[in-house]
Amino acid sequence: MSGVEGGPALGGEPPEPPVLEVASLNRTYETGGVSVLALRGVAFTVAPGELLAIVGPSGSGKSTLLGILGCLDRPTSGEYWLDGEEVGGFDATVSARVRREKLGFVFQAYNLLPRSTAYENVELPLVYAKTPRTQRRERVLEALDAVGLADRVTHLPTQLSGGQQQRVAIARALVNRPKVVLADEPTGNLDTRSETEILATLHQLNAEGTTILIVTHSDEVAQQARRILSMRDGEIERDHLAGANGGARTELR
Ligand code: ADP
Repeated sequence: MSGVEGGPALGGEPPEPPVLEVASLNRTYETGGVSVLALRGVAFTVAPGELLAIVGPSGSGKSTLLGILGCLDRPTSGEYWLDGEEVGGFDATVSARVRREKLGFVFQAYNLLPRSTAYENVELPLVYAKTPRTQRRERVLEALDAVGLADRVTHLPTQLSGGQQQRVAIARALVNRPKVVLADEPTGNLDTRSETEILATLHQLNAEGTTILIVTHSDEVAQQARRILSMRDGEIERDHLAGANGGARTELR
């Protein structure tokens, strides 16, 4: 499918080149003589600054797509371009570099180091990237401030609420200034209040220019994005703006 239903009218400014683009993406799993086509001809582009939700029922291919977008898996065929670079047919070294330099990850289970403070958890990607210590300090404090946790710098994960732990994880995803943040069910472990708080944080960061993809099975979470890709049986069934065509659009604030 090309174009977004309910998108802006033609004319005006020329569109910015996409930060992320996939084309004719197929992924087949071969297990015990059975072949499952988990992705079939998936194609879409993401412009810089978009907030996009990928939604669909269990088994529709969301995790498979996320694995490819996160450079953890490669497509059986098709193309994946990130920040102007073809990264779908990479080797392990290229994929590690792309993950380190261009992507930020937020997981359902936070994945924080339990014996490290909020500061140390957020600092980790900068240590891997060999960023000098003084610059690290500035960036870590800036990222924790961006998620509203400037006063929790020395707290351990166990001393933080679930929502706060997820905000530390979001700060960690941001600290390298990635081209795209990939969030996998980021509110899946949280109560409604913390879910609202995390979605508000993601909105805020998006408003400041971060491109964010949220994978979720929750229609409510998806409706908080600006654009929704609905998957079914390994295909993109719909690519539309949240709230378009009668969907309820709930404002966060
Ligand atoms: P979702 O994340 O939307 O639940 P998945 O991407 O996990 O969907 O799965 C898509 C399809 O691929 C399903 O039919 C699933 O059974 C199959 N599948 C996923 N992972 C594997 C795997 N490692 N081996 C074989 N089949 C798989």
